[in-house]
Amino acid sequence: MTQYPRPLGRLVGELSKLPGIGMKTAQRLAFHILSLTDEEAESLSSAITEAKHAMKYCSVCGNLTDRDPCAICSDQGRRHDVICVVESPQDVMAMERIKEYNGQYHVLNGVISPMDGIGPEDINLRQLIVRLQQNSEIQEVILATNPNIEGEATAMYIARLLKPSGIKVTRIAHGLPVGGDLEYADEVTLLKAVEGRTVL
Ligand SMILES: [Zn+2]
Repeated sequence: MTQYPRPLGRLVGELSKLPGIGMKTAQRLAFHILSLTDEEAESLSSAITEAKHAMKYCSVCGNLTDRDPCAICSDQGRRHDVICVVESPQDVMAMERIKEYNGQYHVLNGVISPMDGIGPEDINLRQLIVRLQQNSEIQEVILATNPNIEGEATAMYIARLLKPSGIKVTRIAHGLPVGGDLEYADEVTLLKAVEGRTVL
């Protein structure tokens, strides 16, 4: 491995810990950072510190926010009779981008994954039950966890958990990507697409 001068090595090392950043990219970023002016480098560094200090989890929904409750939970213009359950704050952003959904969210900040030793008590699930118990106006819970093994298992677990409550529990449909081709779809995707078919 390349021997960097210690401060540069530390910077490359920290950057390489970021998701999707290999050593080569870390090195490129590190050299770019060193080429910045002192003000630019300070601005980058303080943005990290400020975001880390200011952002917290919403005590209602678990989304990342700089105020509690978050902007979505405090928005009186949104529907309060439906909660969409997602895995991460990024999923909330993705849902908000489609501008179709106007209800509440619940962010699990994880998924149930026995392989990784993550059980129901390790994700933000208990708070969902509390919300449902405290808000009788909630008519529907949409399970929008990812369509992979952990996401499906988590959705199934929550669906079973909520069954006695009588609240309508739905799962987002998944199947073929738009622009996709039946011929190239894997079997699980194609099966899900068939299962999730709709009447036209
Ligand atoms: Zn919130």
